[in-house]
Amino acid sequence: AKDAGKNCYYIYDVEKDHQRFERFSLGADLRKGIQNNELVLHYQPQIDAVTEKIVGVEALVRWQHPTAGLLSPDRFIPLAEELDLIIPLGEWVLKEACQQMQAWIRQGVPDMKVAVNLAGQQIAHERLISSVEEALEASGLSADHLELEVTENFVIRQPEVTVGKLTYLRERGITLAMDDFGTGYSSLSYLKKLPIDRLKIDRSFVKDIGIDRDDESIIKATLAMCQSLGLVVVAEGVETPDQLSFMRDNGCQIIQGYYYSKPLSADQLMDFLVSTGQL
Ligand code: C2E
Ligand code: CA
Ligand code: CA
Ligand code: CA
Repeated sequence: AKDAGKNCYYIYDVEKDHQRFERFSLGADLRKGIQNNELVLHYQPQIDAVTEKIVGVEALVRWQHPTAGLLSPDRFIPLAEELDLIIPLGEWVLKEACQQMQAWIRQGVPDMKVAVNLAGQQIAHERLISSVEEALEASGLSADHLELEVTENFVIRQPEVTVGKLTYLRERGITLAMDDFGTGYSSLSYLKKLPIDRLKIDRSFVKDIGIDRDDESIIKATLAMCQSLGLVVVAEGVETPDQLSFMRDNGCQIIQGYYYSKPLSADQLMDFLVSTGQL
């Protein structure tokens, strides 16, 4: 038993060292990776709950690391935030997403939006508006094809900074979505004051449909409230037919999740549209 304990300690230490090394070297690589065009976007379809047609895609960034393979955003977004790389990274994502959507529109895809995630630091940054304008201008995409996702915690923590900018973007014709709804502290009355069009119900609620009555009640209450406020609701992380019918039956308009599709590369998204008879 003593030996096993020692062993554990040893493994723990190596693991910690490894993590420290990984952060250090990944951080240095990320700076280069952004410049060397190693980031790629995948696109997850958002589907109208009633017609089952595509109405949008969420752009989700990945990093094609030269030796470590395709890295998920959870591995490098926090690092990018720590190292002040989130601004150039975020600007790249915006530009790329707008360019891709405009290219798809030229190819005749159905009418849809591309949704881009904004980090808190991006929203606070003085260049937010100009980088959005630049991405639209460079791509030729019209504002009504762009959606921006913001998280509730950030908006609630920084109301003064945020509300003015979001109001401007919304008046400009861009759709604004509140991401990860339910995981933060926003009160329902506060939502009414925010310049948002959509609310995304977090996957942590959706996965408990059929399992946890409380989560089901929260979803129902959220849907009822959004209906009276005129907000469109997007369900995240819908994987099963039961989750789909619960959301649809309770008035949720847009479904995103593995039930319809995982995030896809740009080419795969075209295949998805062809195979579902939408292109
Ligand atoms: P998110 O904004 O909540 O994005 C949804 C995440 O849920 C994605 O993970 C997606 O692949 C995953 N997902 C979608 N449907 C399902 C499902 O049915 N089941 C399960 N189990 N998962 C599902 P991903 O792509 O790994 O992204 C993780 C997070 O990284 C995102 O969470 C977002 O917060 C962040 N992120 C991704 N791209 C960007 C970006 O360009 N900028 C910023 N600032 N953050 C990003
Ligand atoms: Ca999101
Ligand atoms: Ca989300
Ligand atoms: Ca999330």
